[in-house]
Amino acid sequence: VVMSSTLSSGNSTCKYHTGSRNKVINLDHGDPTVYERFWRQRGDKSTIIISGWQSMSYFSDVSNICWFLETEFAKEVVRLHTLVGNAVTEGRHIVVGTGSSQLFLAALYALSPQHSPQPINVVCASPYYSSYPSMTDYLKSGLYKWGGNADSYEKEGPYIEVVTSPNNPDGHVRRSKVNRSEGLLLHDLAYYWPQYTPISSPADYDLTLFTLSKTTGHAGMRIGWALVKDKEVAKKMTKFIELNTIGVSKDSQLRAAKVLRAVSDSCEEENSQEGESFFKFSHNLMANRWKQLREVVDSSQLFSLPQFSPAFCNFFNQVVEPQPAFVWLKCEGNVEDCEKFLRAHNIITRSGKHFGVSRKYVRISLLDTDENFNQFVDRLSTIQSL
Ligand code: PMP
Repeated sequence: VVMSSTLSSGNSTCKYHTGSRNKVINLDHGDPTVYERFWRQRGDKSTIIISGWQSMSYFSDVSNICWFLETEFAKEVVRLHTLVGNAVTEGRHIVVGTGSSQLFLAALYALSPQHSPQPINVVCASPYYSSYPSMTDYLKSGLYKWGGNADSYEKEGPYIEVVTSPNNPDGHVRRSKVNRSEGLLLHDLAYYWPQYTPISSPADYDLTLFTLSKTTGHAGMRIGWALVKDKEVAKKMTKFIELNTIGVSKDSQLRAAKVLRAVSDSCEEENSQEGESFFKFSHNLMANRWKQLREVVDSSQLFSLPQFSPAFCNFFNQVVEPQPAFVWLKCEGNVEDCEKFLRAHNIITRSGKHFGVSRKYVRISLLDTDENFNQFVDRLSTIQSL
């Protein structure tokens, strides 16, 4: 406050910087509010009305393995994957979940051997999504347990490897690391969408998770889906959700169907020159944010960012740069604890220690509001020395 009054006399920009410096900018969570502007612009194209008498039953389609899966929602999932080209849906069972978080647990339950004397190890290469270890271990299951970093996993016997691609937190495209015959793979493709990464080929794995949270930004709807090759695995995942929540909100599935339809429609309309598709909008937005961020980081000696190689994207039909949903920022020099360092500047981030690596790294969300992002870049540009 004192500095602000001292500097404000001749320089309004300085006043803005110092005056807002006390505001805490929280970029710890990946809350995807960044897409709100698109959905506001689209108006009623994504609105639904549900009458009091509708979607009352527990059941959706009892002839389906996933008996609580709304047909409309399943149809839009297949349509969008086909349009984007990011996943094979033929020969797959769709299991809907309350976010992909519920499906992660359902998948661990379904993949674990049911009568083994020891819990199966769940591994992922570090840096891994910070929720995997805690979600795996919080109920102290007898079926599975967290086995740590896949890069250094050397035990014999069956294991589950989670492959997150592009990866949260560092944005890199990944393949499985352990590669032993008794491995079961769980692919978390939450960020395999054109705004974040070039779409190189349709994902064709045994068990793949997607989430509406990162696709369209509707995290609050709590909808995710799994594409599952094996019928028995799909049945077990369905059983888990039945025991856990007796299905998944129909209201949310209907709303998700409408939102996914609006995304697919926006892609098809764009081809007939009628407006900007959701992915063009979100891709431009992310490109803009990464450009601003790189400019600030490149002009500083204190921080560094991961480098990515551009690649051909089948969806945009051109070579594009990866532009992840998170910044994986490294503090250079002798700053050992980057989270603490940024916290002193009122920027809240998530330390590398939660992702199984050094405290020199932090994860910062790039999916927050324009206001928070702009203030963050602004604040970062003012941090020039220790
Ligand atoms: N997987 C990854 C890699 C994520 O980043 C997230 C959200 N941060 C999730 C799963 C969970 O998403 P949902 O909102 O669908 O539960």
